Amino acid sequence: MPGSQHVIVIGAGISGLSCAHRLNQLGAEVSLLESTDRPGGLIGVIRKEGFLFESGPQSFQTTDLILSLIRELGIEADLQTADSRAARYILLHGKLQRIPTSPQAMLTSSLLGVGSRWKILSEPFRKSRPPDGEESVAKFARRKFGDEILEYLVGPFVSGVYAGDPEKLSLRAAFPSLEEWEREYGSVLRGAKKSRKAPGATPSSLCSFRQGVVRLPNAIAEKLASRVQTGITAKSLNHLGPNGNAIFELHTERAGESTTMQASAIVFATPAYVSAHLIAPISEALTHTLSGIAYAPVAVIAAGYYRQQAGEPMEGFGFLVPRREKLHTLGTVWNSSLFPGRAPDGAVALTSFTGGATNPEIVSEPEDQIAKIIQSENEHILKIVGSPVTSSVWKYPRALPQYNLGHGHIVETIRYAERQLPGIFFAGNYLEGPSVGKCIENGFQTAEAVQNYLQTKA
Ligand SMILES: Cc1cc2nc3c(=O)[nH]c(=O)nc-3n(C[C@H](O)[C@H](O)[C@H](O)COP(=O)(O)OP(=O)(O)OC[C@H]3O[C@@H](n4cnc5c(N)ncnc54)[C@H](O)[C@@H]3O)c2cc1C
Repeated sequence: MPGSQHVIVIGAGISGLSCAHRLNQLGAEVSLLESTDRPGGLIGVIRKEGFLFESGPQSFQTTDLILSLIRELGIEADLQTADSRAARYILLHGKLQRIPTSPQAMLTSSLLGVGSRWKILSEPFRKSRPPDGEESVAKFARRKFGDEILEYLVGPFVSGVYAGDPEKLSLRAAFPSLEEWEREYGSVLRGAKKSRKAPGATPSSLCSFRQGVVRLPNAIAEKLASRVQTGITAKSLNHLGPNGNAIFELHTERAGESTTMQASAIVFATPAYVSAHLIAPISEALTHTLSGIAYAPVAVIAAGYYRQQAGEPMEGFGFLVPRREKLHTLGTVWNSSLFPGRAPDGAVALTSFTGGATNPEIVSEPEDQIAKIIQSENEHILKIVGSPVTSSVWKYPRALPQYNLGHGHIVETIRYAERQLPGIFFAGNYLEGPSVGKCIENGFQTAEAVQNYLQTKA
């Protein structure tokens, strides 16, 4: 493509889509390549017998950027917002206990003993400072709140976000605000209060769409039109050296046929272990760094039941399971209570997660075996009688990157390497946070960095 500066973004998950979308907005000539037959990556949906099941994220937390993207894409009418007061539960000795959300509820809750409740209520007045070195999430929680809160609140929450192990996760990398709040205010609860949005600002809400979260990646892909190509796999990358505008040659494969594309800049929006392999001809050191990011396996088990089969009302967000309860389920979301249209009239839809860094072996079991184990745990907890009307299982051997101790250093090394390798950029859920919102922010920021690079090069 002589005279033009072509950018190739590899991987059409939400990170790559957001990056390509922003590049397109900025006027860059962009191609987005996706190896599977659809955009969206981990975001997916299926409809079965009147149920709508999400195979990856079940919802997303809004940010100002997501809301403006949704408006720009013209899909606000499809947006669904969950009730912000939806109750969340923890399984305690086999029974669901509501998580208290106010100091008053905390005083009377039987989820935690008196000592732990006092530790939470008094935390704003017990000032502390973070230690000099990097601290694990477990060490932080024990130091500030004690073992019970680590086991019954922090651990399950960490499973819900990272499918991670609190003993290994880095507080600084996984939950940077907590360390900042402790440093600034001496208290994480005081910091959380201070950081609340100003009155009048749009509050963050838990959302999805009538069609499921997938509406967002699909709408971005529609807008990108022929700039997105599916069924095309990036195989290897060569550096051509200054050769007009194109400095990279990307070898790809589509339906068994090899093709070559040239580009002035390449964005790797693939998982870290794929990017590690693709960057190998250009930087062995980066291959080593990217390969150092551990991924936790997760299986997602969705099931639909008639409402009268269940003894529990399943009203609220759902429940999390502390590892102390010795079950395989990490947590279960009550989809049909959060958003309308997830189940036919008189039925309920629920989605459970298993595996993670603390129980990876279960994800190697056959799908029907995983479904059987998780459904029998749900049946016990939710007093469900009989089999589900329908169900689905998805297994992800490498679902979520782990922001373990040392992750901050890994990200710094990747950022340093980007500065040493003009035209090479990385985006994805292993860099600035795994949530859909963080991936979108990261995609936009990467696009702006690419555009700056192209302008300085022109
Ligand atoms: C089970 C589960 C539940 C989750 N729940 C939530 C939630 O409720 N809320 C929330 O905010 N977040 C949630 N997340 C996190 C969030 O969904 C992900 O972090 C995010 O979707 C990752 O997007 P990504 O684009 O970085 O990566 P991916 O979605 O993994 O996209 C990478 C893309 O690259 C493609 N690719 C790979 N190799 C190649 C190649 N060689 N050539 C071309 N293309 C290639 C892949 O096919 C894929 O489409 C969840 C994640 C999982 C796994």
